[in-house]
Amino acid sequence: MYGKFQKHLQDELSAIEQAGLYKHERNIVSPQSAEITLEDGSKALNFCANNYLGLADNPRLIKAAEQAMLSHGYGMSSVRFICGTQDMHKELEKAIAEYFHTEDTILYAACFDANGGVFEPLLTAEDAIISDSLNHASIIDGVRLCKAQRFRYANADMADLEEKLKEAQSCRFRIIVTDGVFSMDGNVAPMDKICDLAEKYEALVMVDESHSAGVVGKTGHGVAEQFDCYGRIDIFTGTLGKAFGGAVGGFTTGRKEIIDMLRQRSRPYLFSNSLPPMIVGAGLETFKILRESNALHDRLVENVNYFRDKMIAAGFDIKPTQSAICAVMLYDAFLSQKFAAAMAEEGIFVTGFYYPVVPKGQARIRVQLSAAHKKEHLDKAIEAFIKVGKKLDVIK
Ligand SMILES: *Cc1c(COP(=O)(O)O)cnc(C)c1O
Repeated sequence: MYGKFQKHLQDELSAIEQAGLYKHERNIVSPQSAEITLEDGSKALNFCANNYLGLADNPRLIKAAEQAMLSHGYGMSSVRFICGTQDMHKELEKAIAEYFHTEDTILYAACFDANGGVFEPLLTAEDAIISDSLNHASIIDGVRLCKAQRFRYANADMADLEEKLKEAQSCRFRIIVTDGVFSMDGNVAPMDKICDLAEKYEALVMVDESHSAGVVGKTGHGVAEQFDCYGRIDIFTGTLGKAFGGAVGGFTTGRKEIIDMLRQRSRPYLFSNSLPPMIVGAGLETFKILRESNALHDRLVENVNYFRDKMIAAGFDIKPTQSAICAVMLYDAFLSQKFAAAMAEEGIFVTGFYYPVVPKGQARIRVQLSAAHKKEHLDKAIEAFIKVGKKLDVIK
């Protein structure tokens, strides 16, 4: 039978390739860092990782992971509620709750699972989920797994959100769901206004802090800190795979009864393996580092401001970023690919995005800054941007 199916896949794959949408992997042979080494021995500066706090190769995390393996073993061979919970899992859940000023936390293998398992246990067909149109794929999938009615509002558009809240007034419960930082523009969800509307129209509030925790807010604690919304957000989800060390792991943190119910009914928690000790040990060390000092976050903010100001001065069209994501607007899809390829030749890794990842005519280069970037890295990247920008007639 495979022959016919093979032909079908080959056709689809070549259509993907012809549309220029085929995803190629780049083989890195060094740890993830500001500077990486490729298979052919060449080096590149990395401006497309989610390594916001530069912790992905942090020696303290590596040591903590090693020590956790020595004291608590390699794997758990169990889901949490059967025999997969160690003292460390509870400690990490507590550390995350302290970080977000919440009552309790539940760990998952990834934030994809946290979002996949958050709606279905809490809401039914009588309820409504009101979701930002640019929310992450895992939120969209999580909503699909739940029978609640679905409403979508235009990205960060409070008038549209209010309309949708009015439409959903006949439902039993309503929940507003948003990413904290949207990964394409780097804009921040207006949490204070979202919480105001939630109070006015009696809705719960959930925010996915994957790109915002560790990044936005005065000390990097995310959108609740930035908008002073502590106590007004019912559910936070997040990842250990971006700012918080960059390995794997996700979490949902929030009100006690909500987390309790997830422990009873959330399917990715009930039916998927427990996080291994090395991840949990390094996770605990991550939050210890962040409690000790704000140096990493301070450096990230400094780097973002430096890069953005120099790029604007060079004449680039930069989306007004409020995070560690900086969108350099080119508008033309073909140009965005050519630009990213030319940057790679200069030894700078950035990503070109175009339709359907971003709206038509909104093609761009996305730059992700990190606390790991030194000033010389930023200068090299800016220099390359100016060189390529002039060559491709983007700037004068
Ligand atoms: C990256 C990301 C996720 C997925 O996180 P993982 O832990 O890698 O599964 C979920 N939501 C948002 C908003 C993200 O940016």
